[in-house]
Amino acid sequence: MQIRKSNQEFNFDKYSFFKQDIDPKQRAWIEVKGKALETNVRQLRTKLRKNCQFMAVVKADGYGHDAKVVCDYAIKGGASELGVATLEEGIKLRSFGVKKPILILGNLYTKRDLIISFKNDLMPTISSIRECLVCNNIGKHFGLKFSLHLKVDTGMSRLGFESKKFIQQFEKIKSFENISIEGIYSHLSSADENNALDSQSITQSQRLKFNELLKQINFDRNNEIKIHLANSAGMLLSKDFHFHMVRVGLSMYGYSPLAKIDKNLLLKPALSLKVKVAFIRTIDKGVSVSYGGKFVSNRKTKLAVLSIGYADGVPRNLSGKIKVIHNNKFYPQVGSITMDQMMVDITDSKEIKVGSIMVLLGSDGDKTISPLEWSRKSNTIPWEILCSFKNRLPKVQVD
Ligand SMILES: *Cc1c(COP(=O)(O)O)cnc(C)c1O
Repeated sequence: MQIRKSNQEFNFDKYSFFKQDIDPKQRAWIEVKGKALETNVRQLRTKLRKNCQFMAVVKADGYGHDAKVVCDYAIKGGASELGVATLEEGIKLRSFGVKKPILILGNLYTKRDLIISFKNDLMPTISSIRECLVCNNIGKHFGLKFSLHLKVDTGMSRLGFESKKFIQQFEKIKSFENISIEGIYSHLSSADENNALDSQSITQSQRLKFNELLKQINFDRNNEIKIHLANSAGMLLSKDFHFHMVRVGLSMYGYSPLAKIDKNLLLKPALSLKVKVAFIRTIDKGVSVSYGGKFVSNRKTKLAVLSIGYADGVPRNLSGKIKVIHNNKFYPQVGSITMDQMMVDITDSKEIKVGSIMVLLGSDGDKTISPLEWSRKSNTIPWEILCSFKNRLPKVQVD
């Protein structure tokens, strides 16, 4: 009757929360340090050409960090504009109360979408004369000017006017009375390649093409139009890429896209990925672990089951290739990563218990695991790692 007795002693009064009141740190979560974002923006801005502005790129929910937190702290750090990919992302920022100019980096082409963009005070990226006309008509209809940025293609072959056509069409575009050209820009395709600064590189040829185009349209540096070309890599390469503004994503989040960067630039990763141990078991030597039995224990092994899997955005192809950190020590992940769980070999630990917190990405003591490491091991790029985390992971701001 032991059970009955302990049941009677159970004090339910302590548990007076709402039935849906789950602790965001109940299972697995992302921690975001706003201060790190602010510091990164400040530091990066010290490297800019004089009067060059900083656009914080917050697409894909701020590279998985939570766009609202990123906006707040990037603006504190001195970002003067924001970049998003989609109409919806732009509207969301406005709903957070963001007042700064917002540029939509993706393409809008229907009248309806452009009207919505206009009504939310979002600047579209314009790549064709037809889109210019639509915007001009919208401006005219509302008796106002529609602010937008023109994009030219210099070698990415994605969005943007073909540069020769742009040179021909710019005079006409300038004559439209109900648009306001806030910027002219292009995008680098290869600035993170090791040879980017070589005279023959794609990056240099893009820069020359862009400069040539500005010359051809008799661009007057004194007017209000902002010229911009650089992403993080372009920004870090050289001031030659800075113009009036840079559009920075990855390095603001604390990771350099370049192998070599200025030693004085200490970028702080703003994101950590953490998970709790949900269960601990011990298996004998020679026992297989997880789907497909890809891992077989070669000793009596203590396993921690972590409540995180590929449905949370941990790439399945990292199975058996990553480590996690607890109390300044690394522990290897073993067996296939499953949809919702993964196993870690904690045989060497006496201190890890059910409920202990493990770090998958970020720092603990002097140990760090970076998305750069994951991206190399899973044959992708850090950008993809950061924006693959799913909504199932709550985001918790920690400062
Ligand atoms: C995403 C994006 C950026 C930011 O790139 P990072 O390499 O993350 O700095 C800049 N410009 C455009 C057009 C983009 O789409």
